[in-house]
Amino acid sequence: MKIVFFKNEAHFHPRISYCCDNAEFYLETKLTKYKNLLVFAFAVPLFIFVVVNYETFKSNRLLLLAVAFLSLPVHELCHALYCWIAGKKVERMCFFPYKQFVTKPIAYVKPAFDVWKKYQVVLFNLFPFIILSAVPSVLAIFCPPLRMWLLLISLLNLSTSVFDIVSVIHYLRFPKGLLYFLQFTLKVTDKEKPVTIHRIMVTPKLDKIYHNCFVYSENKLTQTENVYDTDETIILKQEFKEQFNME
Ligand SMILES: [Zn+2]
Repeated sequence: MKIVFFKNEAHFHPRISYCCDNAEFYLETKLTKYKNLLVFAFAVPLFIFVVVNYETFKSNRLLLLAVAFLSLPVHELCHALYCWIAGKKVERMCFFPYKQFVTKPIAYVKPAFDVWKKYQVVLFNLFPFIILSAVPSVLAIFCPPLRMWLLLISLLNLSTSVFDIVSVIHYLRFPKGLLYFLQFTLKVTDKEKPVTIHRIMVTPKLDKIYHNCFVYSENKLTQTENVYDTDETIILKQEFKEQFNME
């Protein structure tokens, strides 16, 4: 697993596009427009909590800084930890991947391309919330001397979990029988037949277009050597060439 700073997926693959045979993309419902509002809504309790209890934290400013600084990396490690529990590979962990801070995630974990079960996708997103917000809140009840610090950890993590929680709300509203890939969700057309997923991507040097094929059949995803073009892949490759001025 690689850990990278100030780089997002576009640095590794300026564009990745997918298309598939025997399935269509299941598009998310539009909760996204509330995301920015939610970022602020989730940060408000944290802000109020720190201001109201500043006297408690004032005597230990160094610890306050350390907790604030470590909350994001530990949050991302929790996502990676769930991948490990679920037996999924992690390709990389990216910190501060975008120039805009508020409206985009400030860090994320990128698991390798694979098919996931719905509960796994939900738990992948929810794992940091469980470990760093729910568990400390419960511990705070039983551990009065550390109560303020546990609540601080819980609220700090809550404010970094906005995008995860929005994703989980999306997933929970999805109907049964979909195929989950983290990058997208598929609705299979004919369940008796295999699904082929074409992945088209371009190298950072913009010198080569890669075309990979994955077959999902009998609950298993395998990358196949049998790479073939369809009307959609031909159109996609043409789009790539025009977008990146390739020969
Ligand atoms: Zn997260």
